[in-house]
Amino acid sequence: MTETGLIVLAVLGLAGAGALYGLACWIWPFSACRRCDGSGKRRSPSGRAWRDCGRCKGTGKRLRLGWRIANQAGKNRKHL
Ligand SMILES: [Zn+2]
Repeated sequence: MTETGLIVLAVLGLAGAGALYGLACWIWPFSACRRCDGSGKRRSPSGRAWRDCGRCKGTGKRLRLGWRIANQAGKNRKHL
C-alpha cells in the first residue's frame, strides 16, 4: 500500500461517512433535545414544578445539525 493509496482511502472513507450522516439526517431529521432529554419539560431543582424547555420550546425535539446547515444554505439562495 502506497502513501497515496492510504490518502485516497481516507478521503473515500470520509466521503462515505459524510454521505451516511446525510442519509441518517434525512431519515431521522430530529434528535432528542439534550437539555431536557427529549421530554420538552424542564424540572425545577425541587423536581415538583416544571415548565416548557426553552431550547426546544417544549417539543423535546431538536432539528439535527445537518438540517440546520441545509436550512441555512437554503436561506442564502436568492430564489428561496
Ligand atoms: Zn428541550
